[in-house]
Amino acid sequence: MRALVLNDSLKLELVERARPAIAGSRDVLVRVYQTGVCGTDRSVLVGKFSAAHGVIMGHESVGEVAEIGVDVTNLAVGDRVIVNPTLYCGRCGPCLDERTNFCLNKVGTEVGIDRDGSYADYLVLEDRFLHRIPDGVSYDRAVLAEPLACVLNNLDAAHLTPGDWVILIGGGPIGLLCAMAARYLGSPVTVVERDEYRRKQALKLLTDIFPDGITVVSADGMTSLPPGPVVIDTVGNQLAFAVDLAAPAGTVVIMGYDSRAEINVQPLKILQRGLRIVGAGDFKGPHFLRAVALTARLPLEKLVTHHFPLEEHEAAFAALAVGTNQSYRALKVVIRSTTEDSE
Ligand SMILES: [Zn+2]
Ligand SMILES: [Zn+2]
Repeated sequence: MRALVLNDSLKLELVERARPAIAGSRDVLVRVYQTGVCGTDRSVLVGKFSAAHGVIMGHESVGEVAEIGVDVTNLAVGDRVIVNPTLYCGRCGPCLDERTNFCLNKVGTEVGIDRDGSYADYLVLEDRFLHRIPDGVSYDRAVLAEPLACVLNNLDAAHLTPGDWVILIGGGPIGLLCAMAARYLGSPVTVVERDEYRRKQALKLLTDIFPDGITVVSADGMTSLPPGPVVIDTVGNQLAFAVDLAAPAGTVVIMGYDSRAEINVQPLKILQRGLRIVGAGDFKGPHFLRAVALTARLPLEKLVTHHFPLEEHEAAFAALAVGTNQSYRALKVVIRSTTEDSE
């Protein structure tokens, strides 16, 4: 099969690999339809996050069941499925406490980072990490279920009271998914984004879906915002601004991943205003189920601006400002493994 593999110089290479085979009785062979490019993939290629050399990357994927192990009863050949790439053991303390993203046996199990992922024709996973796509939901919508699960976990961490105004720093795909989910749950939302192209896209996309309760401002506009009860930093290096934007007794959620960021914050600001600063990580098992269910109701596919075949992976990442001097020209980029035209 074809596969995009991370080489020693942190570049993706399209190679031929043996098709993975079902080994355990609960294993499922998935024919990959497509995979969303995650900010983490981008971070690996620009040296901000590490992944195993030689691994097939890609983890936000959807596809069709091609073969099942003898003990698989909840899925059948031909079912359309969403991959949950955050594997867990289900038996350790954190897993039994439903904090599966902090599983003690997680090392080496992250799909597309430590073990082979889905920028390929096929993928094998246990049945419990595959979820049937709700009827009528397109692959373009379903491919955003995994990032939506992250968003739901971070909104939960904010202890969002229905109607609470949410300020989102960053108008990339994760910021906009946060905006969609928070607005859907009843919160008015303000997105702060410094890039003009992304600001325009954000405003159009969000106001197309929601008739009211959405504002999009530039970084300059941020200074005139009144403080809000919930501020989410989807960039990962904006903690100092986030603290300044939070109202007394407010919550700041650190959501974006940036392994190089180090921030100066005045502790007194946190103390005097009684702020709560939290991180939530990616998602727990139950969030994934909620995200899959929500695909039936939120038009997530509006975030997808580009599709590329596996062969054009360089162009796919170039649209996200990797290996080029150009800035972002895309929101969500999706890499198709299938050669079929339509779904
Ligand atoms: Zn991801
Ligand atoms: Zn565990």
